[in-house]
Amino acid sequence: MAKHTFQTEVNQLLDLMIHSLYSNKEIFLRELISNASDALDKLQYLTLTDEKLKSLSFTPKIDISFDSEKNILTISDSGIGMNEQDLIENLGTIAKSGTKNFLSKLSGDKKKDSALIGQFGVGFYSAFMVASKIIVTTKKAGEEQAYAWISNGSGEFEIEKCEKESHGSEIKLYLKEDEKEWTSRWRIEEIIKKYSDHIPFPIFLHYTETKSEGEGESKKEIIEEKNEQVNKASALWRVAKKDLKDEEYKEFYKNLSYDSSDPLSWIHTKVEGTLEYTTLFYIPQSAPFDLYRVDYKSGVKLYVKRVFITDDDKELLPPYLRFVRGIIDSEDLPLNVSREILQQNRILATIKSASTKKILSEIEALQKDEEKYKTFYKEFGRCLKEGVYSDFENKEKLLEFLRFQSSKSEGAEISFKAYKERMIEGQKAMYYLQGEDLELLKNSPLLDAFKQKGIEVLFFSDEIDGIVMPMVGEYDKTPLRAITSKEALEDLGEVSIAEETQEKFKGLLEVFKQALGEEVQEVRLSARLVDAPSCVVEPEDQNSAMLKMMKQMGAMGMGGDIPEPKPILELNPNHSILTRLLENQESEKTKEIAHLLLEEAKLLAGGKLKDVNAFVKRLNTLLQETL
Ligand code: ADP
Ligand code: MG
Repeated sequence: MAKHTFQTEVNQLLDLMIHSLYSNKEIFLRELISNASDALDKLQYLTLTDEKLKSLSFTPKIDISFDSEKNILTISDSGIGMNEQDLIENLGTIAKSGTKNFLSKLSGDKKKDSALIGQFGVGFYSAFMVASKIIVTTKKAGEEQAYAWISNGSGEFEIEKCEKESHGSEIKLYLKEDEKEWTSRWRIEEIIKKYSDHIPFPIFLHYTETKSEGEGESKKEIIEEKNEQVNKASALWRVAKKDLKDEEYKEFYKNLSYDSSDPLSWIHTKVEGTLEYTTLFYIPQSAPFDLYRVDYKSGVKLYVKRVFITDDDKELLPPYLRFVRGIIDSEDLPLNVSREILQQNRILATIKSASTKKILSEIEALQKDEEKYKTFYKEFGRCLKEGVYSDFENKEKLLEFLRFQSSKSEGAEISFKAYKERMIEGQKAMYYLQGEDLELLKNSPLLDAFKQKGIEVLFFSDEIDGIVMPMVGEYDKTPLRAITSKEALEDLGEVSIAEETQEKFKGLLEVFKQALGEEVQEVRLSARLVDAPSCVVEPEDQNSAMLKMMKQMGAMGMGGDIPEPKPILELNPNHSILTRLLENQESEKTKEIAHLLLEEAKLLAGGKLKDVNAFVKRLNTLLQETL
């Protein structure tokens, strides 16, 4: 007998399971049945693809029995089973990455935490909510030795060799004193019907019925053993739409996704013709915690003629739709298709492209319900932007889905379409200002000239906007331009500054350049400023979001040394600070003010100051002089 200790994270989870999540205990049965179903899926696939297992006799099924006197509930399956190594890895640790991330997200709020637990899929351990001891007896298909795993859920588990006739696993729960309800035939049936009706394998419930026979003296009690299939075992996606209730779709989603909330919507499609396949896709209400991690798990399972093939192919849908959960079931792929071959399969490519279109139409339809769409966009808007960048074929459609605040939207988010409809007469392009801080964008001096002319400016304040949006170019044949671009200034008809003004400021610009040196790429007069004395703009050939990304990569050792981007300082020749400086060009104070004008412009653009101390010192000196 070998003693093992649980990984720290497992202990934390067990503690949480046992002490704080009492609200929805019944899900433990769904979790154990879903594990059994996964184990059957895995073995079914291997009997089709693995030479060694092709001859195995395999009847996929799940059996549930109980003993109300001893207070025991048993769930067994004829699936893949586990060997010693598997037991240690699967029932002693949490294999999935991001465990710590998950645990750090726990809020102490039971409802939220239990939703998170659901997402995280710590299924097996939930059985300790109702059991004080669990024995897993299991034999791996194709191997000789069986093992028993034993634990009372507090810190340790034991593994020992044992006897077991056939492959598969048996999970024996020694129920806690106050958990007797799980030995009631009706209660078990109820839970199976509720959560596991459409698991594609039969679930049998075993129970006994006592009958009396005869009269008086010859009266006898007869105990009858019964086996009853409790679930429909019809893969839900194969059932016709009209025969399915919303509730059934929702329960199936929860089985599939580990999400304990209802889905936002679903799309069930049966395609017949040259290719035959069924798809059932769900859009969740909220993003799973690992949506933006590189190692996210794909949410789509591939079946061939109802046989599970894989849930590990990230290319069943384009990566930007990775928030979609669901099933693709093809009639045309060969059953023994290897996972490697899937990558270049033409049938799958067709299904992928058609499915993408379907999902995008569903998102389009979601827009009709503003509140629903808001929820959706808040969770998955960033993914759609990734799509704009990566899915050339559907770019136009994806652009319709985006929403932004603007200089006229008063906090509301508007679409490109809405913007375009509100363009003023003679407006040549759609304009945006990009930066990381929405509040700073709203108050940027760069907006002045546009505001004066009544032209709306979109705010792109999402980190990803800086990378995606400059590539967009146009929306519905109207150019999309940064207000900092040369074209935008040309559109306003305000590129040129009168010759004599240029002449007048020549000396002052020189003084500024001298004073600021390496801190700026250029100092020039600007026609775009109205109220502010100065602003900074990015040189045309720089994309600071891109540079920032490259810098981050550099920090991870992938990129070379990337220089800090240098801004162009623009000055407003009509501002009184500037006109008054003209009188006083050579004084030391002018140089100090040059620095201050650069620093305040940088602050307004959301940039950081290199030397905050120097800035404060300058400001204080100036304040002292004013007093
Ligand atoms: P998940 O199902 O999300 O992987 P669980 O905690 O439910 O997480 O199960 C952990 C692992 O234990 C499973 O991934 C599987 O490898 C193994 N396992 C659990 N139950 C069974 C079973 N009945 N048969 C075979 N393996 C199982
Ligand atoms: Mg599970």
